[in-house]
Amino acid sequence: MKVLSVVGNRPQFIKSGPVSSALRVAGIEEVGLHTGQHWDPELSDVFYTELGLPEPRYRLDLHTADAATMRPAIAAVIEQERPDWTLVFGDTNSTRAGTEAAGDVGVPVAHVEAGLRSGDLSMPEEHNRIAVDAAAALLLCPDERSREILLAEGVTGRIDVVGDVMADACFALAPIARERSRILAERGLEPGGYVAATIHREANVRPERLARVVDGLGRIGERVIFPAHPRTRAALGEVPPNVEVVAPVGYLDMAALVSQARVLVTDSGGLQKEAYWYGVPCVTARPSTEWVDTVELGANVLVDDDPDKLAAAVASARMPEERPLLYGDGHAAERVAASLADRG
Ligand code: UDP
Repeated sequence: MKVLSVVGNRPQFIKSGPVSSALRVAGIEEVGLHTGQHWDPELSDVFYTELGLPEPRYRLDLHTADAATMRPAIAAVIEQERPDWTLVFGDTNSTRAGTEAAGDVGVPVAHVEAGLRSGDLSMPEEHNRIAVDAAAALLLCPDERSREILLAEGVTGRIDVVGDVMADACFALAPIARERSRILAERGLEPGGYVAATIHREANVRPERLARVVDGLGRIGERVIFPAHPRTRAALGEVPPNVEVVAPVGYLDMAALVSQARVLVTDSGGLQKEAYWYGVPCVTARPSTEWVDTVELGANVLVDDDPDKLAAAVASARMPEERPLLYGDGHAAERVAASLADRG
């Protein structure tokens, strides 16, 4: 069996790591394709190096987020390789382009992170999620809630609940990260003595919203360490004195930084879950989330772009006493491989 994996963005490199290992163990041939949607070394190469990801057979180096531009280039590779499956991850334009390209060539699509919905159609990611799930032949869900959503939408593909492959990476690497990363020492940080922050969603890098979020960060009476995505940095004006803007960091430094923070402020999808797994309360600068359980359990608070609410939520943030296992047990990638192998 041959699987062609399409990746293009930071979270997809991270999600693909455990899956590549599981495919190898299961004896399934994997052909990697990197669209080049993220091409800065700090958003791409650093993950290949530190997570030991296999070098993709195809690097398209497209340097675009435009799905229509990516689609024919990906289709040409799928046509040449003729895999049994095209495997796509998450909700980005690379995910969408890979799905459409596979459809053009007539190769079935398997979608990792199927069935997630924020209910917010102003997000480009929400449109990608719906379109990819409608087209996929195999829907690999992180949890039962996602399965229910897909059933309600009437998707035609086979649905398997496998857990979350990001949990696989997180559970395996967080202890190594805390041992190896020097980021706290380098920045003079004490565990529990600072707030970590990331902001990069399209809506939040618009100047007015970004200014409100940064205003909120400035009202936190603690040091805020803010590894800024390049597009966020490009949109950032002056920042308050307690906010320390740094370049994006690799996975291990990020794991060390977030897992030892007192609170995380973010608009990232992946980091909302990682904070939960680390036992760190999260404040999310969005009006909605696809990781609803974290909010329902009281581990995550949605504050949109309201500076007062953001600062108040950070001040009062606590993890709930009850912290059930969410989104898998760290063995999702093995189930992904088994699910792909079981074509019945
Ligand atoms: N991440 C990282 N370095 C950073 C910021 C994030 O390694 O400077 C990791 C983070 O730990 C998580 C993933 O990138 O595993 C999340 O990616 P991102 O926030 O870009 O995308 P989203 O999850 O919102 O799609």
